[in-house]
Amino acid sequence: MRYVSTRGEGSSLSFKETILTGLARDGGLFLPEEIPDVSDKLESWSVMTYSDLAFEIMSLYADDLPDSALRAIIDKSYGVFRHEEVTPVVSVGPLHILELFHGPTLAFKDVALQFLGNLFEYVLEENGNEMNIVAATSGDTGSAAIYGVRGRDRIRIFVLHPNGRVSDVQERQMTSVLDDNVFNLGVTGTFDDCQNIVKELFGDLDFRDKYKLGAVNSINWARVLAQVVYYFYAAFRVQEKTGAEKVRFAVPTGNFGDIFAGYIARQMGLPIDKLVLATNENDILSRYFNTGEYTLGEVAPTLSPSMDIQLASNFERYLYYLSGKDSAKLKEWMTTVKDKGTLKFDPVQCDDSFVAGRGDTEMTIATIKEYWQEYAYLLDPHTAVGVAVAAQFMKEDVPMIALATAHPAKFGDAIKHATGEDIAHHELIEELAGLPTRKEIAAADSQVIADFIRCKIEANAAGCGHSA
Ligand SMILES: *Cc1c(COP(=O)(O)O)cnc(C)c1O
Repeated sequence: MRYVSTRGEGSSLSFKETILTGLARDGGLFLPEEIPDVSDKLESWSVMTYSDLAFEIMSLYADDLPDSALRAIIDKSYGVFRHEEVTPVVSVGPLHILELFHGPTLAFKDVALQFLGNLFEYVLEENGNEMNIVAATSGDTGSAAIYGVRGRDRIRIFVLHPNGRVSDVQERQMTSVLDDNVFNLGVTGTFDDCQNIVKELFGDLDFRDKYKLGAVNSINWARVLAQVVYYFYAAFRVQEKTGAEKVRFAVPTGNFGDIFAGYIARQMGLPIDKLVLATNENDILSRYFNTGEYTLGEVAPTLSPSMDIQLASNFERYLYYLSGKDSAKLKEWMTTVKDKGTLKFDPVQCDDSFVAGRGDTEMTIATIKEYWQEYAYLLDPHTAVGVAVAAQFMKEDVPMIALATAHPAKFGDAIKHATGEDIAHHELIEELAGLPTRKEIAAADSQVIADFIRCKIEANAAGCGHSA
């Protein structure tokens, strides 16, 4: 399988090259040259364990890894999950809930980042190289990425989070990891600032090459790939249980990474009737799917911080397909959005894979409360946004699978606020309270961050930035 950039420049890359490169050098995102149709394999795949299924799906895309290596990476990655099914599906009221939070940091991002950490280690060992990961996080990516690579010899990780804008638990999950290869930066700005800084650093090709930058944000194709697996796994479990032919998925959306994996699964032939895109008040994407208008706004903080995003980086991948794989048209669109902050799409350009809605704070709270009171099931606020929007798109004989993207204990305050009770607990979260932490504060300025990274890599010593 070869991979090409959405912006159409440069030659195609192998899987290994693609995941090591992260963001394409022309500023675009990588996509496979073609998406394999697996319709004739669904029946045999439907009885497989999670790991076997992951192997079948991933080997189609990661065809330059030896089978034995891919198997080992998958087994190692999913062996650390606390549930033997890795991503189990439970029936709750009218829904099937796909629990994606049984990994080490209790958010769905572990599914992809455990895999990516092991994959990086394998490839770097093989080519004798090293990598410096630079990542922006709105809360959950950071800790999941850190847990994916902590303590590894050939990898350093620099994580930028918007200082004071991630939850206390999210911050502690990152800053309590004291391994020498882990650097946390609290940036005085928003998540979009952090994401822009990372983009700028990757855009500086000299810096990027000299310091061997690597990406773990959802722009990395390996993350999308790892997430494709659970769409298949969940659809099979629900088909088995209900006998339904098609299913719907409700996906709480921020950077459009998770739901884009569902879109790929659908393109591969998984019978997904609709992908239900759910946003919180930061609803640029739900407005786009309802009106064809793509207009950037200001980021508003909500109870679901990992979805407080305006410019969803993976959306470019979707627009590339929408353009008919026309990089020139895509570039024109991206330039218009960047310069004018708005773009009106012709409704005929919208395809029928998606429906979309918005679950605001009031609905989030009401949904958490309802599921707790009616079904004794606790939804984290992100999942609750998805469930609230799912309720608007229920269809007879088409089961709805709602993605549960975080364990409620990660957002205990929101749960308390919604239910009036202090009931969201998990031992991994309780243990964080007493741990020592480490982070640096930095201005939202790519030069400042670049200097910090350079200093840490070159001096490999204290004295860069200000410890907090
Ligand atoms: C990251 C995250 C999301 C949003 O996922 P995207 O891939 O960015 O759309 C939703 N919920 C939780 C808990 C997350 O951590």
